[in-house]
Amino acid sequence: MKPFATAAEMRAVPRSAGFRNGGVSYWFRDVGLPDRRPALPGDADYDVCIVGGGYTGLWTAYYLKKARPDLRVAVLEREFAGFGASGRNGGWLSAEFAGSKRRYADTHGKGAVVALQRAMMASVDEVIEVADAEGIDADITKGGMRLVATNPAQKARLQEEVAELHEWGYWPEDLHLIDPCGEPRLQVDGAVAAAYSPHAARVHPAKLVRGLAAAVEALGVDVFEDTAVTDIRPRTGSRRPCAVTAAGTVRADHVLRATEGFTASLPGRRRQWLPMNSSMVATEPLSDVMWRHIGWERQEVLGDEAHAYCYAQRTADGRIAIGGRGVPYRFGSARDSNGATPPQTIAELWRVLARMFPVAAEVPIAHAWSGVLGVPRDWCPGVDLDPATGLGWAGGYVGSGVTTSNLAGRTLRDLVLGEPTDLTRLPWVGRRVRGWEPEPLRWAGTHMVYGLYRGADRRESDRVSRTSRLAGVAARLAGR
Ligand SMILES: Cc1cc2nc3c(=O)[nH]c(=O)nc-3n(C[C@H](O)[C@H](O)[C@H](O)COP(=O)(O)OP(=O)(O)OC[C@H]3O[C@@H](n4cnc5c(N)ncnc54)[C@H](O)[C@@H]3O)c2cc1C
Repeated sequence: MKPFATAAEMRAVPRSAGFRNGGVSYWFRDVGLPDRRPALPGDADYDVCIVGGGYTGLWTAYYLKKARPDLRVAVLEREFAGFGASGRNGGWLSAEFAGSKRRYADTHGKGAVVALQRAMMASVDEVIEVADAEGIDADITKGGMRLVATNPAQKARLQEEVAELHEWGYWPEDLHLIDPCGEPRLQVDGAVAAAYSPHAARVHPAKLVRGLAAAVEALGVDVFEDTAVTDIRPRTGSRRPCAVTAAGTVRADHVLRATEGFTASLPGRRRQWLPMNSSMVATEPLSDVMWRHIGWERQEVLGDEAHAYCYAQRTADGRIAIGGRGVPYRFGSARDSNGATPPQTIAELWRVLARMFPVAAEVPIAHAWSGVLGVPRDWCPGVDLDPATGLGWAGGYVGSGVTTSNLAGRTLRDLVLGEPTDLTRLPWVGRRVRGWEPEPLRWAGTHMVYGLYRGADRRESDRVSRTSRLAGVAARLAGR
């Protein structure tokens, strides 16, 4: 496989007449951009102030209000609830937890890592149950997760990965190898191996975040939109911690940062988490004939074993939505708020789609979009609350935040309420990691790492049977 799409391939991508790129996501085009809630009117006083109205902020507000209806909780959101990755993602509500299991085990022991993995599996069901209880129709189908290998090196890696995960909290019934051509059928061209886990569901991300914001508001949380926080300040003496905005300052006993991929734009946090891009395309709906050919009746979320991996779902309205890394990072942690995807990335994603599903190669691409997610220097997600400063945070989910943010919300609730629980003892609580390197090292390093991963994928597609050494170099350089 070539690393980059050529100009001819870019032109060859079939696009709908009404093809749309950027503008948040297909998910929000499907449901319509929301009317914005009022902005913060001025100085205010709350018990808990949450900065960021994505899944992390909203789940935290939800569980706090459920536990303590008397708490006064505010969410401050720069744009609108769901504007960030929570309204743009691939809709994999899966039990995958990013980060090195060995790193967590070094500080908390192996049993704690197994407990974390089991908590992730329970979180998938928790999201589904709350959505059901709150009447949130988010096109949720718990069809599980299928990972496919399309060359011998990927196959070897998949087999090792399944065996390795059986050491860390997945029992054989939680993840196992399956016949890639077996029933229920999902016809991925060239699949030489596959694994299946029941612990995943397909969701419509915007419907979930929109419903969650409404549920939180119905519980009495004040959600202020068009309200950019310009600084978050810790407790000093008798002055409570606060979130500063142009309209006024919100003081609270606890101020919780839930800004994931946008964290670099807050003062003093430029190098804390790398804002990594992820890009997606969605086709026009496929015909019934095509769906009969492909199968995919179980509607499991689908991923591959490439180093520059892809993630896909069959949408409730019969499209294929597929995503991948694209341009991994912008110099200086800059962000592109319109979320447009470069033509080259669209062509690369289409090539992956056409390779996996040749029958869908002629189906026009109707939508493209991108978003940012947060990557800590050690690639390990975390959650914390410092009682001394009154400041808390959660994130750095490295692209697996749909389920993890729910676990984060319940953990932040327990930390705020000061109750040691099974959740606050999990090994991702209280992690401190160093920041990323200054520029231009940050930019050069990230691009080199993804260049190496693409090179490794190219070599492996030549049907070598082992993982390319380039991938090992990339992992060491990345500090994974
Ligand atoms: C294209 C893409 C595909 C993905 N696919 C998947 C997937 O399939 N499965 C999965 O598990 N994960 C996936 N992820 C990752 C997942 O979506 C995120 O980890 C998760 O949504 C993070 O939620 P969050 O609430 O922490 O952050 P966000 O949803 O990014 O929310 C942060 C919010 O903070 C607001 N904000 C930022 N700065 C300020 C400020 N200064 N003041 C006020 N508000 C501010 C933003 O506007 C934003 O709404 C994907 C991510 C992307 C980008």
